[in-house]
Amino acid sequence: MKILVINCGSSSLKYQLIDMNNESVLTKGLVERIGIDGAKLEQKTPGKEKYIVETEMKDHKKAIELVFTALTDEKFGAVKSLDEIGAIGHRVVHGGEKITESTLVDEEVKSIIEDCFVFAPLHNPANLLGIKACEEIAPGKPNVAVFDTAFHQTMPASNYMYAIPYEYYEKYGLRKYGFHGTSHNFITNRMAEILKKEKSEINIVTLHLGNGSSLAAIKSGKCYDTTMGLTTLEGLVMGTRSGDLDATVVTFLQEKENLSPAEINNILNKKSGVLGVSQLSSDFRDLENAANEGNKQAQLALDMFVGRVKKYLGAYMAQLGRVDAIVFTGGIGENSKTMRADIVAGMEELGLVLDIKKNDMRGEEALISTDESKIKIYVVPTNEELMIARDTLRFL
Ligand code: ADP
Repeated sequence: MKILVINCGSSSLKYQLIDMNNESVLTKGLVERIGIDGAKLEQKTPGKEKYIVETEMKDHKKAIELVFTALTDEKFGAVKSLDEIGAIGHRVVHGGEKITESTLVDEEVKSIIEDCFVFAPLHNPANLLGIKACEEIAPGKPNVAVFDTAFHQTMPASNYMYAIPYEYYEKYGLRKYGFHGTSHNFITNRMAEILKKEKSEINIVTLHLGNGSSLAAIKSGKCYDTTMGLTTLEGLVMGTRSGDLDATVVTFLQEKENLSPAEINNILNKKSGVLGVSQLSSDFRDLENAANEGNKQAQLALDMFVGRVKKYLGAYMAQLGRVDAIVFTGGIGENSKTMRADIVAGMEELGLVLDIKKNDMRGEEALISTDESKIKIYVVPTNEELMIARDTLRFL
């Protein structure tokens, strides 16, 4: 069985075709600048040359048409005909409160995705366009929606409610939802295998650290708390997002700088985080290099990132009581030995003892704590596409 996984952004589209017999990637591609001049599709099939198409793509439907053509291309493609593809799994960012797990797309699911546009204005509309385009171009093929928020729906109300008048929760659904759920779920499943326990027996903290970052406290295999909130802005200091703030900062800036809600949102989501503090870059490689050369603002940005992660890690250890392991994943978690070391530094008395030698690696699954460490420390590369494909397969 072959599953196509599609992740639609506002002007981009990533895809992978996965053979579920052995979970291997048959081909993967990226479409950029949809609806903008200079649109381009790039596909790489193992053992074949890169396939590049540069042509006008006025919308997501055109982009998906080109994806299907690329997949079946005689020279560069991975399948002879679309009939070989059993189903399509779509990443959808926000599913609100009604969606608690991956689901086969029908009219109701599409209207739920639409209801959540307000909370994910950049992602949900694009996700829905992708689904509708697939329905039109490949009618009859099952489409499954896999939501970033679904895994977090097990949080207790005491963790997901905001302490504002209750009526706003009732009226608008204002609450914490959490994101990166597909990644936290993938890591939780893998950790149950690694620890050789039932999923329901494990207590772990998952640290998904990338451009966007979030931690999750996993209690008995289910999400108990997570750092992102109503939107992806809350929690950790991220590449370009501020994370937690005194909400008064928002109203103060709006007043002083005469900013509209859209403008302040743009500042907090796109111009803040380590980019805003360092005034240099949102990329941790640039910041680590600059800090090593003595750039104080870059060092401050990194220190703030580490400090916030440490604060939540400690909080989640307290919430869980017993922790079997903490797990680093995401671009930074998988690749930066410096960030990993700084995050757990000084936590030996709390049960986290890093093995400096084992930590000296990147991009692979590894146990990086010492034998004495009460709580194990792992690096586990995440694979959201595979998780989406696995969830999609369940519906066939
Ligand atoms: P996204 O959230 O877009 O999926 P990723 O999880 O791919 O992002 O993470 C991307 C980030 O990972 C980059 O911005 C960079 O800061 C960081 N990163 C990647 N490789 C390294 C490395 N070797 N050292 C430090 N940071 C790295």
